Amino acid sequence: MLEKGVHFDPGPGNVNRVSLKYFVAVVLVFNSLSRALLCMFKQTSCSETRCFSNSYQSARNRLLDELSLTDSRLIKWHIPYAHPESGPGETGLYCDCIYMCHGQVATNLLVLISATHGVEGFAGSAIQLDIMRHFCSSPGDYKDMGMLIIHALNPWGFAWLRRCDHQGIDLNRNFIDFAQALPDNPDFTKLLGSLNNPQLQTTCHIEALWKHMGEYQFTETVTRGQYKHANACFYGGTAPAWSHELLQQLIDKPDIKLAMQIAVVDIHTGLGPYGYGEIINDHIPGTEGFNKASKWYGEAAKSPVLGDACSTVKTGLLDYFWHRVIGDRGCFVTLEFGTYSIQRFWESLLDEQNYHNRTAVRKLDHPAVQKLRDYFYPVEEAWQQRVIDRGRNVVRLAIQGLSDETA
Ligand SMILES: [Zn+2]
Repeated sequence: MLEKGVHFDPGPGNVNRVSLKYFVAVVLVFNSLSRALLCMFKQTSCSETRCFSNSYQSARNRLLDELSLTDSRLIKWHIPYAHPESGPGETGLYCDCIYMCHGQVATNLLVLISATHGVEGFAGSAIQLDIMRHFCSSPGDYKDMGMLIIHALNPWGFAWLRRCDHQGIDLNRNFIDFAQALPDNPDFTKLLGSLNNPQLQTTCHIEALWKHMGEYQFTETVTRGQYKHANACFYGGTAPAWSHELLQQLIDKPDIKLAMQIAVVDIHTGLGPYGYGEIINDHIPGTEGFNKASKWYGEAAKSPVLGDACSTVKTGLLDYFWHRVIGDRGCFVTLEFGTYSIQRFWESLLDEQNYHNRTAVRKLDHPAVQKLRDYFYPVEEAWQQRVIDRGRNVVRLAIQGLSDETA
C-alpha cells in the first residue's frame, strides 16, 4: 500500500498529470488571492464619496468598469435595456439591470434602484457602486442572497438632467391601471396658469399660493399626480412609460419570481433635511408589506398615509408596482435624501419646466437646468458622505430583515 507523499514514485507517465495538478492548484490559489486583493484594493483605494459621478455617462462608465473588474462568476446576468433616444452628444442610453449572487442560486433578493426620477440618479448610482464593491468583498454578508442593481431606470432623465422621462412622464406617477379612466386632478388644472407662468414662478408667488391654500394642501394637490398636462410637472402619462414596460419584462426573471423574500430600495433625492436619508414606507398600514417595513427598518420607516413622512400620498407610484410583485414576500421602501429648502425645490422645478416648455434644443449648461441639477445633487463632500453612510446602513437593515425572515 502506498504511503501518501512518501514512497509514491510518479514514474514518467504520471509526471505530467501531477505537474498539471500542481499548476492548476497554483493558478486557482493565485486567482483567489488576486481577486481578494483586488476587492481590498477597490475598497480602500477609492474614498466613498468618489463613488459619485457628475453625469449619467460617467456613472454608467464607472458601473461597467466595476463589472469588468468583478469576478465574472458573481454576475449571473446583465441586461442593458437600450433607450430609444440618445443622450447628450448622441451617446447611447441604457437602463442596466445586473443580477449578482455568490452561490449558484439565492433564497432572498435585494433590489437597489436608481434614477427613477432621472436627475435624482446621482445619489442612487453612487450607493449602487459602493454596495457592489461591498458585495464583492464581503460574501459572508450576502449569504443566500441575490442582488439586483437597476441602474438608471430613467436614463434619459438622468442624462438630460430632467426629473421626468423623454415624454415628460413622471415615472413615479405612471404605475396606474391604464385600462381604467385616468385619475382626475381638477385642482391641479386650476393652478396650472400659475405653475406654468414664468412671471409668477417666484418664491414670493409660491408662498402666496401656500398661504392661500395651506402648505400641505398645495403640496398634496400639485404633487399627487396629474394625467392631463404633459407640459407640466408630476404628469403621469396616458400609457405605460418606457421604464414601466422594461420592468414588466424584467419581473419575469426566475430570480425575481422565485425569491422567497424581497427587499426593494428605490433611491431618491430632494425632500427632507439636508443629507438625511428618510425611509418611506408606502405600503398600506396593516398589510404584510407595511408590517415588514416597520419590522426591518424600525421607527425610521415613515408612512405618508399616516402623515409622518416627508412625502405626501401620491397616485401611480413605482412602489405600487413592486407591492404587487412582492406580495407577502417582503417590502419596498423609498430612500429619500434631503437637499435644500422646499422653496428652492419649487423654484428649481418650475423654472426648469418653463425652460423645457419654451426650448426646442435642450442645453445642459442653461442656468435653469443647472439649477435643477444643483438642487437634486449637492456636489458637497459632507452631503455625499452622509448619502454613502446612510445607504450602507439601510442596505444592512434590508439584509438583516431578509435573513431574519428565512432563518
Ligand atoms: Zn424622486
